[in-house]
Amino acid sequence: MSGIYIHIPFCNRRCNYCDFYLITNLNVTDKFLISLKKEISLYASLYGKMRFDSVYFGGGTPSVLSHTKFKEIIDFLHENFDLCKDSEISMEANPEDFSEKNLNDYRAAGINRISFGVQSFIDSELKFLTRQHTSDEAVKVIKDALKYFDNVNLDIIYSLPSQTLKDIDISLSEAIDLKVNHISAYTLTYEERTPLYKSLQKNLVTKNTDSKEGDFYNFVSGKLSSHGYHHYEVSNFAKEGFQCKHNLKYWEYGNYVGFGPSSHSMVNGVRWNNFRDIIKYNDMLSKDSLPVEEKTVLTSEQKKFEYLMLALRSTGVDFEKYNENFGNSFSSEFSDSMNDLLKFGLAESTDRKFYLNEKGYSIADEILAKYF
Ligand code: SF4
Repeated sequence: MSGIYIHIPFCNRRCNYCDFYLITNLNVTDKFLISLKKEISLYASLYGKMRFDSVYFGGGTPSVLSHTKFKEIIDFLHENFDLCKDSEISMEANPEDFSEKNLNDYRAAGINRISFGVQSFIDSELKFLTRQHTSDEAVKVIKDALKYFDNVNLDIIYSLPSQTLKDIDISLSEAIDLKVNHISAYTLTYEERTPLYKSLQKNLVTKNTDSKEGDFYNFVSGKLSSHGYHHYEVSNFAKEGFQCKHNLKYWEYGNYVGFGPSSHSMVNGVRWNNFRDIIKYNDMLSKDSLPVEEKTVLTSEQKKFEYLMLALRSTGVDFEKYNENFGNSFSSEFSDSMNDLLKFGLAESTDRKFYLNEKGYSIADEILAKYF
């Protein structure tokens, strides 16, 4: 089954490390919603009533929109597509956008999974990341959310300059104590065009060495795994049964359709992306054109490469699926790589799958570059 991604390109202000496409002018959300609905209906009229079982609202900060706007969008998706009744419908959110009362309203609007951009439970770290909430505020809103949502994710960022293992332990322990069933833990990245990157260039901050980052990664994986979180993608950990259905579509090479500025789509080996600029996006839709900037039909070699990149960073290569898609046996084609990785204790294999283990995950990029 396929998934829908909707990019909500608004934030109250931009964090210093963020390079996602977004604007901070919230006066244009109504105009954006008109364009978004136009894009959805144009797509449905061109490609028919496709069947979906997941919707992911990312951004930006989707929670800047009211619950009534979410209801409007979700109802519109139901009108235009065959959206399964038990679809996973996720929303990214910032802790400062909620009170206990309106969390319930978002649940009633149809959202059934909420992903909080918490990043840290240490106030000085939140300040460094220019986040707008405090640790206490995050704890309160997460506790409130757990009254209405079974399915809650927390995003954590680690490997901040001068951070210690003890600091990381504080944030992870708090997340574990809150009993959320999904944690995404990412290392801080220094993206060009961000103020944080400029600070790095001016030597105002120091990036951690690869070796230190590796130690942090091993600590995060070990701690979360020992508390019952299954490590199912390089940066993602979930309690049994709570893997993110939508993200699995990316990692298991499923189909997904993106709506909104800068969104990406992939359907049966055809990949495309929308224009980033909201003005261009609105303008094209006002002329009844889909706002697609670039479309690529992947060759079978590209498809194979992408599948391996995604599968080996997550749930592993499924032998049957590989054979179906690429008309070849994975274990014959990559027997030398498989043998080496098994011999070095970096991967494991069953009669159905070949996958990287914890040790392999920690150097996934090197493995992919060297062996596939
Ligand atoms: S809240 Fe999220 S999307 Fe918005 S600026 Fe910060 S990191 Fe970027």
